[in-house]
Amino acid sequence: MADILKGNAVAKDIKERIRKDVEELSKENRIPMLAIVRLGDNPGDISYEKSIIKNCDSVGIKAKVYELDVNTTTGKLVELIEELNIDNSISGILVFRPLPKHIDEEIIRNSISTKKDVDCMHPWNLEKIFEGDISGFAPCTPKAAMEIIKYYDIPLEGKNVVVVNRSMVVGKPLAMMLLKENATVTICHSKTKGLHTLTNNADIVVVALGKAKFFDERYFNEKSVVIDVGVSEDENGRISGDVDYEKVEPIVDKITPVPGGVGSVTTSILLSQVVHACKIN
Ligand code: NAP
Repeated sequence: MADILKGNAVAKDIKERIRKDVEELSKENRIPMLAIVRLGDNPGDISYEKSIIKNCDSVGIKAKVYELDVNTTTGKLVELIEELNIDNSISGILVFRPLPKHIDEEIIRNSISTKKDVDCMHPWNLEKIFEGDISGFAPCTPKAAMEIIKYYDIPLEGKNVVVVNRSMVVGKPLAMMLLKENATVTICHSKTKGLHTLTNNADIVVVALGKAKFFDERYFNEKSVVIDVGVSEDENGRISGDVDYEKVEPIVDKITPVPGGVGSVTTSILLSQVVHACKIN
């Protein structure tokens, strides 16, 4: 049986620190405020939004939703972001992605104030991650994976880590964060050959495909530490990770569950970045 790397304990720890910071800020009459910008009413976005607002409430952060029509132009969206950039009551800005296809994401990413960029959309913040500089804002999901590794004292220095994902929101920034901790990182993707061999030779495997139960017991061994970032529905419509948990959990050393793993830490990371934004703005 594996050690289960539960996200709730990590999130609780982060939230404790946030509450203390919010209390300190309130002594100076400063209240962290998150602006959520949403285009259209995609059910996934709305449910994520509700969960963010609930989480904000629980630690004393305020959240304000800016709902725009799904057909809003790039120009109109930039106008709103620029207003939020100069609004002193707003600490951080979160623009829900993926944006509708007609929106020029590059323009949007560049329009957000780098000091309010709590979801690390701006290329300047992303570049910092690639430079190994942690003074900016990090993308929340890879940071959540890192927090889990840190919280459970999983050593990284000199370890072989395989990351199966090369997206700019998960795999690439995560690889840089791992590298900063002196891990030896291999990034895998859909064209990688011999994935079994690579994952089996790794000390830690981070997977983020979005393919329910893709990884079975053949990919791992009794020493594997498995961090499952993937979230999708299985054949029965249940939320599942990329790992076939029933088959893999009994044979590996440590594993994050889905749900209750990386996803449950991600929002806490976002909140901690809103507090950081409040401090620096
Ligand atoms: P994405 O852009 O679609 O990336 C998927 C990655 O998986 C790509 O790099 C792709 O390779 C690789 N891949 C696909 N099939 C593969 C295969 N058979 N073998 C090896 N690699 C394969 O998705 P994303 O936005 O990064 O998100 C990935 C997953 O993370 C999704 O399940 C998403 O829901 C989840 N996610 C979770 C959180 C959280 O907080 N837990 C947050 C964000 C995303 P190519 O590059 O070659 O296509």
